[in-house]
Amino acid sequence: MHTAEPLLALRGVSRSFPAGEDSVTVLRDVDLDIGAGEMVAIVGPSGSGKSTLMNLLGCLDQPSTGSYRIAGQDTRTLDDDQLARLRREHFGFVFQRYHLLGDLDAQDNVAMPAVYAGTPPAARAARARALLERLGLPHRIGYRPAQLSGGQQQRVSIARALMNGGQVILADEPTGALDSASGEEVLGILEALNAAGHTVILVTHDMQVAAHARRVVEISDGRIVADRRAAPSAAAAPARIEAGAAALPAAGAGRHGAAAWPRLAEAGRMAAIAMRAHKLRTLLTMLGIIIGIASVVSVVALGEGSRQRILQDISAIGTNTIEVYPGAGFGDERAARVQTLNTRDADALAGQPFVASVSPGVSASRSVRYRNVSATASIAGVGAGYADVRGLTLAAGRWFGEDAVGLRAQQAVIDDNTRKAFFASAQQAVGKILVLGNVPCRVVGVTAPKQSTFGGNDSLTVWIPYTTAMTRLLGQNYLKSITVRVADDVPTAAAQAAIESLLQRRHGRSDFYVNNMDTIRQTIESTSATMTLLISLIAVISLLVGGIGVMNIMLVSVTERTREIGVRMAVGARPGDIRVQFLLEAALVCLTGGIGGVLLAGLGRLAFTVFADGFPMVFSAAAVSGALLCSTAIGVLFGFLPARNAARMKPIDALARE
Ligand code: ADP
Ligand code: MG
Repeated sequence: MHTAEPLLALRGVSRSFPAGEDSVTVLRDVDLDIGAGEMVAIVGPSGSGKSTLMNLLGCLDQPSTGSYRIAGQDTRTLDDDQLARLRREHFGFVFQRYHLLGDLDAQDNVAMPAVYAGTPPAARAARARALLERLGLPHRIGYRPAQLSGGQQQRVSIARALMNGGQVILADEPTGALDSASGEEVLGILEALNAAGHTVILVTHDMQVAAHARRVVEISDGRIVADRRAAPSAAAAPARIEAGAAALPAAGAGRHGAAAWPRLAEAGRMAAIAMRAHKLRTLLTMLGIIIGIASVVSVVALGEGSRQRILQDISAIGTNTIEVYPGAGFGDERAARVQTLNTRDADALAGQPFVASVSPGVSASRSVRYRNVSATASIAGVGAGYADVRGLTLAAGRWFGEDAVGLRAQQAVIDDNTRKAFFASAQQAVGKILVLGNVPCRVVGVTAPKQSTFGGNDSLTVWIPYTTAMTRLLGQNYLKSITVRVADDVPTAAAQAAIESLLQRRHGRSDFYVNNMDTIRQTIESTSATMTLLISLIAVISLLVGGIGVMNIMLVSVTERTREIGVRMAVGARPGDIRVQFLLEAALVCLTGGIGGVLLAGLGRLAFTVFADGFPMVFSAAAVSGALLCSTAIGVLFGFLPARNAARMKPIDALARE
């Protein structure tokens, strides 16, 4: 620093504040020089402008007119970051109300200025502890402000002022809230600091307090009315601070390696502390995100689960299967009256070189009776190869064979629901005689229970040879369907075209329609893609709503924590530091909410597997990480406005609000 200039020099400084239409001038034409190492008391009645002057001296505020030079440098040429650096590296503030952060313990409060200076955590902690010991608080290091007396809090705040060196200590009514004994103690400390070389500026309305300084500047109604210097007193100032100074870890060690990452980590820690300090509010803030993410993840998992199960079913049937039905297409009402599809068609198809096997099908609903129990079942007349074509497995017995089909045998295979309706076990069912309509049939096989896609299906199905069904049960000579299994080396699409043209030729018109499993699979794939898109859209909307909730609370939180922002700025936080802190907090709240949502969805799945037996939910890593990424992005997006508001605050406005 330049030696010819006084350390602090105000020239023609005025400060006025807007008040409604016009403005009030609080300081008028102030000239003041303060040299390095001085101890100056600024006295005056309440409202005379002392604090305003102090804020100007500490670069918390800037003059409306006039100049302020610090060691020869005009503060008008400095931007917000440079002013923050001045506060951080050269000034230390001591406030009447201490302005400690209630969520941090004594050590963290003291160490805060070093965070913004980029001091490594270990060095920071060591110096903070040493300072607290030096100030007589070795046993209060882990205490929160609320657990400390006023005098102790003020000593913590003095330690904070010294954290980065505290070349100039600015104390605004430091004894104003203290009893006289603690007040004397604090003044003693300030004197000792002055004796140790610190420049001390003490603001007070109390002449007795002012008497501790050798220079007294009197201010009245915004003007300096007196500037007295006492003769140097013979009594040496107490030197107990100085005595231990050598033992203190250096201020700002490693400061110049101040990288962005440690500061980011620190902001993350602060965000976590803030979240922990307001658990309920944080939880409520997250709720929208939790519910949004949980529902999105569940619905996506459910969609994926049922899609996979349907595709599994299809692949069990095989994609080289083609179904032929009477009528013009799915849902054709006249299809039931179309009677042109018959066994001769089936035989003709079976004779084609590209066909591996054919299973004709008929169906009807009939009552089924065993002794005195009866129920209604769907009776399906099918071929011997039907179980293979459909991927059905048997729990007991066997499927009826080609011989049974040829002989119109009265044999039946029943599904698990039918078995449950009449018999205690599958083994017991085999060999029994069921009466279908009025046709008795022997049960030869029971299928294994089939996992259905959604919940349970409780309809009863009985399969009998199609020949039996057509002649003995239904008395009809036309078919409900023909299932064709295409030979392995033939493309399904070509086979389908050949089948269509063959039947067209046989019938002379197109009174049938053809489905192949591959097109059904494609339809399901594209339908589920559409569903996923739709769900994602709803997800985005619900997350937006959640995000707006977060933004709302964060805006309130910024207002509520104005004083904290002010304190952080006073100890040298850059606007960017404040912005990152709030942005990170919003992102962290949302990320935590996202994690909570994923956990909730997992819990929901667990509940479903316990109570609803096999609800198909498939959590993919992509969906989960997508959800977390999305929630974090929402936090950053909606935290932006609150964070910007916080960073734009002027330190003086932030501190003024109490
Ligand atoms: P002191 O610290 O000497 O009691 P202050 O410097 O706090 O006095 O305030 C001096 C005058 O300036 C008071 O009348 C106060 O109302 C006014 N004042 C201080 N800050 C502001 C502000 N930000 N806006 C408007 N008026 C202010
Ligand atoms: Mg004041």
